[in-house]
Amino acid sequence: MRIDLHTHSNVSDGTESPAAVIAAAAKAGLDAVALTDHDSTDGWAEAADAARSLGIAFIPGIEISCRTREGISVHLLSYLHDPAHPGLLEEITKARDARRVRAERMVTLLAEDYPLSWDDVIHHVAPGATVGRPHIADALVAAGVVSDRSEAFSSMLASRSRYFVQHYAPDPVHAVALVRAAGGVPVFAHPVASSRGRVVGEETYQDMINAGLLGLEVEHRDNPEPGREFLRGLAARNGLLVTGSSDYHGTGKPNVLGENTTAPEVFARIEELGTGSPVVRA
Ligand code: AMP
Ligand code: FE
Ligand code: FE
Ligand code: ZN
Repeated sequence: MRIDLHTHSNVSDGTESPAAVIAAAAKAGLDAVALTDHDSTDGWAEAADAARSLGIAFIPGIEISCRTREGISVHLLSYLHDPAHPGLLEEITKARDARRVRAERMVTLLAEDYPLSWDDVIHHVAPGATVGRPHIADALVAAGVVSDRSEAFSSMLASRSRYFVQHYAPDPVHAVALVRAAGGVPVFAHPVASSRGRVVGEETYQDMINAGLLGLEVEHRDNPEPGREFLRGLAARNGLLVTGSSDYHGTGKPNVLGENTTAPEVFARIEELGTGSPVVRA
């Protein structure tokens, strides 16, 4: 059984519809796939329908952008939570709204130096989708300023760039507690992805574990090997689940579906522990 627990559709910054992501997963020979759009569960229904008709298991999920008090970015995956849980819904709605304002501010700054307008960016955002820097990147590619999303991220969209603006993001410890309250299974996404920016220290892991963290996404292309070894030790000492996944974004990133996978026993534990929504099967 091949299981990929981290993908994005155009409900956030992936380039394909939820149904197309599920179809691509089936074509890639996966038996189970999670859709984990940034700060949105709006793709679940479409993905579930596609999974039922294609005979592949679908795990409803989300990736919540969080930030610690020290300003370190933490991405938290949740599986099988209740999407209508008021506390969690309030946080992700607040984050999605803040992301839009933030993107508009970044575009205002960028427009001083580059041929870019808010309309150009919106052109790349599906209706109602979570707006992110990748959409600004797409507009910069269309304007001929950069050749792809990666080039934009290594220059004007980097967190060190003068065009970068932050957006509201919940504290990761609070987000873990909310996910558990909503019956979800919280898994720390790409925890040691140092190429993305500063990563958290042991104390934050401990605080998240105390709040109910259940897993670590160890097998992910952005986790360097020494960091993975640290994560495996941490998982073993604390009884945490270890997952592996692609973080597929369609053509928006080189990540390939199934490039990392999660063990069937771990998937079975996630299904047992997640009580807010069921796994969808044909
Ligand atoms: P944001 O959520 O708006 O802060 O933008 C971060 C998102 O951009 C992440 O979720 C990544 O999926 C995406 N991203 C980061 N670096 C790159 C890159 N080099 N190429 C394409 N997408 C990227
Ligand atoms: Fe993304
Ligand atoms: Fe992420
Ligand atoms: Zn992701």
